[in-house]
Amino acid sequence: MTMQQYLPTTDIEALYKAKEMLFLNADAAPCSVALPTLPFGMPEILDAAERLKRFDPFIKRVFPETNESGGIIESPLIETPRLLDALVQNSQAQLSQNIHARLFVKMDADLPIAGSVKARGGIYEVLKHTESLALRHGLIKDLSDYEKLGDKSEFFSKYAIHVGSTGNLGLSIGIMSSMIGYRVTVHMSCDAKQWKKDLLRKKGVTVIEYASDYQAAVRRGREMASADETSHFIDDENSLDLFMGYAVATLRLKNQLDVLNISVDAAHPLFVYLPCGVGGAPGGITFGLKQVFGDNVHCFFIEPVNAPCMLTAFVKGECVPVSEIGLSGVTEADGLAVSCASNLVYSAMKQLMDGEFTVQDSRLIPRIRLLHETEGLFIEPSAASAICGFEGMLSPAGQQYMRKAGVERDSTHILWATGGRLVPEDERRLLLGV
Ligand SMILES: *Cc1c(COP(=O)(O)O)cnc(C)c1O
Repeated sequence: MTMQQYLPTTDIEALYKAKEMLFLNADAAPCSVALPTLPFGMPEILDAAERLKRFDPFIKRVFPETNESGGIIESPLIETPRLLDALVQNSQAQLSQNIHARLFVKMDADLPIAGSVKARGGIYEVLKHTESLALRHGLIKDLSDYEKLGDKSEFFSKYAIHVGSTGNLGLSIGIMSSMIGYRVTVHMSCDAKQWKKDLLRKKGVTVIEYASDYQAAVRRGREMASADETSHFIDDENSLDLFMGYAVATLRLKNQLDVLNISVDAAHPLFVYLPCGVGGAPGGITFGLKQVFGDNVHCFFIEPVNAPCMLTAFVKGECVPVSEIGLSGVTEADGLAVSCASNLVYSAMKQLMDGEFTVQDSRLIPRIRLLHETEGLFIEPSAASAICGFEGMLSPAGQQYMRKAGVERDSTHILWATGGRLVPEDERRLLLGV
């Protein structure tokens, strides 16, 4: 397959013109400087990991698809040598001669229950809320009581959950909350795909559709939830729980790399490419990666050229809607269709995110198809943006970063494939062109 080469510029003007660019974060600081400035750290990640572990028997019981993993919601790390070959050839980079790069896909597209990265943060927050309600009402006295929470739908039906979503967060929160018994309402922005709304309604979730964008849907959800004290609002723009739920992924990734005998150190840097919407998923994962691998991991976010809300925050020094710099916020990558970044995440990322690539929508379908043709894996448009991140690193601008950072050596690259499993068959065929 021949694809148009991806050649981002480092000229900041490109942001305003909705052109593809590589942004290098001049404020990125060594972990020894950046991490101590944050109001949270490794103890919070470990606390989240422990909480998830307490719920393993419950998850295993109510979602039989997690039987094999013992109730752990995790995705495989898959090496993709044929994709690597195709991308290197297409880029005309001389990579193969002087560097040894290995390319992997972190297949969150196949995460159980929600089929996207939201199965991490979203489900974690619902479980944390459930635990605190259950503790408060004496439903949990010891560890064996967690599994029994599967029989308490009558109790939880007295409580409501609200969430604003462009689609996938709604799927994750909706599926989990309705399984526990909550009354759950998903406030969907205009970007949400029809099949996502249909699927939720089938599961008994109340879906309210808005003609407006994500911010407006979130605002309405917050209002409705605050009017009712039995309601919990899952605040994608400000939730530390979501953030920590995402961060847990990195402890497990470390284990997966260990099993594969892949070391991460100064001579073997790790590069991770993370599709970014409001910022929670890529931010939580970057926070965790820096805790686990320190300065030997390089974290790059990817956003659509018309909805680069995190990049806008970096350039403006505050979270403002992309409309303020004349961009539409509209993109086919529905998971990334966010016009204003999370303040919490932006603050945490100021010195941690290494850089970002922006991509045009027209690149996404060819990458979905390339991954499918070379490796037989299916991912959705938002996730396919990660592939462009790696291509960007092969471009002259990216190669310059690698040289400057002194990392032109044996490197490992991970594309965080953030979603896809729940995409219905007919939609899948359209995306794959088959
Ligand atoms: C939500 C989502 C993202 C980005 O996560 P944020 O927390 O919004 O930054 C990326 N890819 C997919 C498929 C998503 O659903």
